[in-house]
Amino acid sequence: MSLNLKEAVDSRRTFAIISHPDAGKTTITEQLLLFGGAIRQAGTVKGKKTGNFAKSDWMEIEKQRGISVTSSVMQFDYDGKRVNILDTPGHEDFSEDTYRTLMAVDAAVMVVDSAKGIEAQTKKLFQVCRMRGIPIFTFMNKLDRDGREPLDLLAELEEVLEIESYPMNWPIGMGKGLEGLYDVYHKRVELHRPEKYDGERFIELNEDGDIPADHPLHKDSVYTQAMEDVELLTEAGNEFSEERIAEGKLTPVFFGSALTNFGVQTFLETFLQFAPKPSAHKTLAEETVSPYEKEFSGFVFKIQANMNPAHRDRIAFIRVCSGEFERGMDVFLERTGKKFKLTNSTQFMADSRETVESAVAGDIIGLYDTGNYQIGDTLYSGKMKVAYEELPQFTPELFMKVTAKNVMKQKSFHKGMDQLVQEGAIQLYKTILTEDYIIGAVGQLQFEVFQHRMLNEYNTEVILTPMGNKTARWINEEDLDERMSSSRNILVKDRYNQPLFLFENQFAMRWFADKYPDVELKALL
Ligand code: GDP
Repeated sequence: MSLNLKEAVDSRRTFAIISHPDAGKTTITEQLLLFGGAIRQAGTVKGKKTGNFAKSDWMEIEKQRGISVTSSVMQFDYDGKRVNILDTPGHEDFSEDTYRTLMAVDAAVMVVDSAKGIEAQTKKLFQVCRMRGIPIFTFMNKLDRDGREPLDLLAELEEVLEIESYPMNWPIGMGKGLEGLYDVYHKRVELHRPEKYDGERFIELNEDGDIPADHPLHKDSVYTQAMEDVELLTEAGNEFSEERIAEGKLTPVFFGSALTNFGVQTFLETFLQFAPKPSAHKTLAEETVSPYEKEFSGFVFKIQANMNPAHRDRIAFIRVCSGEFERGMDVFLERTGKKFKLTNSTQFMADSRETVESAVAGDIIGLYDTGNYQIGDTLYSGKMKVAYEELPQFTPELFMKVTAKNVMKQKSFHKGMDQLVQEGAIQLYKTILTEDYIIGAVGQLQFEVFQHRMLNEYNTEVILTPMGNKTARWINEEDLDERMSSSRNILVKDRYNQPLFLFENQFAMRWFADKYPDVELKALL
């Protein structure tokens, strides 16, 4: 082995940034990459905005397609740490892959627009993180604009997400009147416009937690207000606890402005201090595998199909859970026992390096795939024979009826559907009475990918009939009674033959729950 495995693993910090569209995820990602020196110029993350593409093959493919479905991985070094940021696509790119990406990270950063507070998509992604019990760090963004009162934002965060919060710093003013951050954790004030004062960015706090009385900011009403808030929080707020952060029960909150690059570096440095290094990963047999185990192992958390008909290949994203990956090594696919030589690997970075030569536990690698891998697959080297725990399924919210346009194509229609469902691209249901096919997704993009791939990979044109949003709830098999079906719900079975209702809306679901109080209604996640 060419490197000190433990040292290399311990330096990894692998996380995702979660947010509602437009909260500033891209902007903050770019700032982080700039600090890490991974890219020379901001604007290369979302290539479509600037026409400035990162140079990996995959990005090239995306450019041809014009839309981005890549949950790309960006890597950089900072302060002796190797940072891996996994992108979680939002907007029209939101899909189950966005959720599954969260299965491959050790921590999450939640970016919140301070004028808007906790929004719908943030809440959904947060719940997946909580289910995993990973630490969650909050960045309240857009402080350069007039937003909501910081105390209000904290209260909402705690109430809506049911998590404790601990402000690591506190805004001194906001919008045009933003003067700085009262940094509770570092015991200093960070100035927004140091040039307005003596040019120093930081003012150390004295023993009373105050800035020197002769500082011009001292008499400013925004400073007095910030001090009052901080005092209140010190008395009535939560206590800082590294342990509770690690358990995902307390979120450290940072304020700042990604656009004006204010508070981002402080955030990065503090985050890296508390973000966890890769830990042992759970197996199907409820054991764990240490990341320092010398044999390589990892699992597939996402498969990205190429939508360009000229390229059939796909990319399987692997989270490395133990050992070291080396290009050209032999690995086994646990599900089939088949052996592969891993020559075509790539790592998604926002710089020009394309091929990854080695990676260790905590890193993400992308493998070119011609159809061998499925989501949730485990790969391992040597005699490890490990199978990692299954990835969860997520409750779909959007549904479409699906049929083959050409009835003569039934065989390829079924084959394509089987494979795409198995791969995790889409979820499939059958109506109980008529055996009609219904597909479900968490984002519109999944349908588009499905339709495109059915045509290009299985030569089948499918007709999708939108059914709109539905509230899906599973029931126990013994409760199944076809008479419970009505015009406001559809009774279907999933691919494991488990019955569920697709309710027209929440109202229809509650009506049902009232009528059949003994029937347990279950959501996946
Ligand atoms: P994403 O959808 O979460 O990736 O959001 P973007 O990073 O693309 O940002 C959405 C919009 O908000 C863009 O117009 C950004 O310039 C803007 N934005 C991001 N961060 C800030 C900020 O700190 N302050 C202000 N005023 N605007 C911001």
